[in-house]
Amino acid sequence: MSATILVVEDEPGIQEVLKFNLSQHGHEVLQAEDGETALNMLRGALPDLILLDWMLPGLSGMEVARRIRNDPRVKDIPIILLTARAEERDKVQGLESGADDYITKPFSPRELMARIKAVLRRRAPQMTEDMVEVSGLRLDPACHRVYGNDVALDLGPTEFRLLHFFMTHQERVYSRSQLLDNVWGDHVFVEERTVDVHIRRLRSALESTGHDRLIQTVRGAGYRLSASV
Ligand code: CA
Repeated sequence: MSATILVVEDEPGIQEVLKFNLSQHGHEVLQAEDGETALNMLRGALPDLILLDWMLPGLSGMEVARRIRNDPRVKDIPIILLTARAEERDKVQGLESGADDYITKPFSPRELMARIKAVLRRRAPQMTEDMVEVSGLRLDPACHRVYGNDVALDLGPTEFRLLHFFMTHQERVYSRSQLLDNVWGDHVFVEERTVDVHIRRLRSALESTGHDRLIQTVRGAGYRLSASV
């Protein structure tokens, strides 16, 4: 599982340790030393997860978490709060401000990686390597393969990510803009009709086993993967 992680932390030593450990585990790391910088970065990038220090100069970590949760474009990005405070009251406050989890300094890299994995699994199942199956269509993220009724199907990298996202978010309708955010990572530089092109390619890749019917167009709203047709 490899994710893009934004680390918001003002202590250079901790930034370095985090960057080293996250990179070692195959993650892309974005760095910000305060809340303002982080919020600015989020206008041009969509990380898969945010590690957010509680005690920051300027905006507090809690305030940053609140602003992220109130911005429709970035509100769904999972947040793990990093803090030196282990009191129950602080923990509750942190979780109420919109954080998904909470980790107390000093923490072991192993614990941090386990927490990251757990949060991604819960909030962004398409980031994990768990096998998914819908009506005889099987996607294996670990080997990057797709099978329709046990026949290997040939998908391009974008079609693979698109299908993985749909299979881990079944029955829900996504607009083109939401798909760009979730599958391409950022909608800023990609036109919405790009989505239609890749949906077409995805359907054609699934056609030989009849699984193209799982990908449904919802008029005026977007696309959905549904097992019930
Ligand atoms: Ca700090």
